[in-house]
Amino acid sequence: MSRSEILFNSAQRHIPGGVNSPVRAFRGVGGTPLFFKHAEGAYVVDEDDRRYVDYVGSWGPMILGHSHPDVLEAVRAQLVHGLSYGAPTALETEMAELICSLVPSMDMVRMVSSGTEATMSAIRLARGYTGRDSIIKFEGCYHGHSDSLLVKAGSGALTLGVPSSPGVPAAFAKHTLTLPYNDLAAVEQTLAEVGQEIACIIVEPVAGNMNCVPPVPGFLEGLRRLCDQHGVVLIFDEVMTGFRVALGGAQAYYGVTPDLSTFGKIVGGGMPVGCFGGKRVIMEQIAPLGPVYQAGTLSGNPLAMAAGLTTLKLISQPGFHESLTDYTRCMLQGLTERAQAAGIPFVTTQVGAMFGLYFSSADSITSFAEVMASDAERFKRFFHFMLEGGVYLAPSAFEAGFTSIAHGQTELEITFTAAERAFARLG
Ligand code: PMP
Repeated sequence: MSRSEILFNSAQRHIPGGVNSPVRAFRGVGGTPLFFKHAEGAYVVDEDDRRYVDYVGSWGPMILGHSHPDVLEAVRAQLVHGLSYGAPTALETEMAELICSLVPSMDMVRMVSSGTEATMSAIRLARGYTGRDSIIKFEGCYHGHSDSLLVKAGSGALTLGVPSSPGVPAAFAKHTLTLPYNDLAAVEQTLAEVGQEIACIIVEPVAGNMNCVPPVPGFLEGLRRLCDQHGVVLIFDEVMTGFRVALGGAQAYYGVTPDLSTFGKIVGGGMPVGCFGGKRVIMEQIAPLGPVYQAGTLSGNPLAMAAGLTTLKLISQPGFHESLTDYTRCMLQGLTERAQAAGIPFVTTQVGAMFGLYFSSADSITSFAEVMASDAERFKRFFHFMLEGGVYLAPSAFEAGFTSIAHGQTELEITFTAAERAFARLG
């Protein structure tokens, strides 16, 4: 038995399913999850001392690659001053200023400790600000696991086939209207009927929790227009896309400005961090300035701020996102060529340093229905063949992939060699 198998057996005695977050359990691909003990640059190392080129990057934060020396040093330097104070620090102001300068729609920002908290709080704020109860989200989009948002959700909920969770009271779920992603006509019609009841539309500007589905031209622009018409708060959930698809996030990439945004992952540089923010007039409704309550014992944690600040500064260097995007493009092109050579129907999507892989003969993938029509069984086999070739992809056909600045020529070659063998074995 491998050490991962031994550890997974022990883990299941006291941890539900042996994991602290469901997608990690490999239910989407079968087999035993790998237990990791080390990560550096573009690589993760498992308990059996096998190294893998990592396209998960802790599900997005590790845009600099793992264990970047400057990030580790910043955390070490902060460590000697204590772990948490529960009082304001200069680091938090520096973080707020940096976020607001990198993302122009952000006038004010509140730090939290996860993406779930960020979206949950942004929605409460939108409800408090508008005095309306209902929200619109899109099928296959995942915004964390708070009650209002676990309705037809993506990510682990989709992988496990429980997109609407037991435990969410029907009385809560009825306030969440779920519409098809990329279907502006559906939004237009719904707002025409019940626009007065809708507090906010929350959207992943690039859907990354049902694999990777970019917005069709006009979708985000249309949401902006419709929200303005109906007095609805537009929330971009940039937990995944923020600081990744472009330095200023998807809102910079597509040139559409939301009222509120949520961030996570990269903003904490690998530490548990999220944040939400946006228009001053809305953010001023948050306690202690306003009546909408939101709080957190560890919010703005100094170690987390040190890791996040260092990460954001490093990725602000000119050319950073262009290099990442180039690597991602080359990698996807190489995979596509090898799939074609093997006669395997294969489609990829890409926005900056975020990508999707589909076993599908569709011309393009723009909807949840098209994602669901792709061959997830084939992906499972591909995933394991790639693992054997030393490449770690997201263990589900319904998650986006991520690249880092530490990925280079060597990693490209490892990926291509693994893919060539994997496609041949699929055939
Ligand atoms: N929103 C999006 C777009 C996400 O991708 C995720 C997590 N992958 C979340 C929210 C929830 O973040 P967290 O897991 O940190 O609670």
